[in-house]
Amino acid sequence: MLILPLIKNLKKKTNFMTTLNYMAIALLTFLVMECITWFTHKYVMHGFLWVLHKDHHQPKYNSIFEKNDTFFLVFSYSQYNAFLLWFFSVFK
Ligand SMILES: [Zn+2]
Repeated sequence: MLILPLIKNLKKKTNFMTTLNYMAIALLTFLVMECITWFTHKYVMHGFLWVLHKDHHQPKYNSIFEKNDTFFLVFSYSQYNAFLLWFFSVFK
């Protein structure tokens, strides 16, 4: 998927570099987010918020929801606010 725009713009050097920049940004974002995810899981979810995450590692559940689902709400709320900041151009 990422290689298709690169192939289309091979003859145009400026578009080629722009495409490379976008690919580098996407790759860098992926790598940084993987590091943040690893850190969050190891030191936050298995740290001071273990009380919410513990049932995720247990094989039996009493209901269809887990306490661990709270993280979904926390992370989606922060992403929702990030989207609002972008949408309303707060930082321009
Ligand atoms: Zn875990």
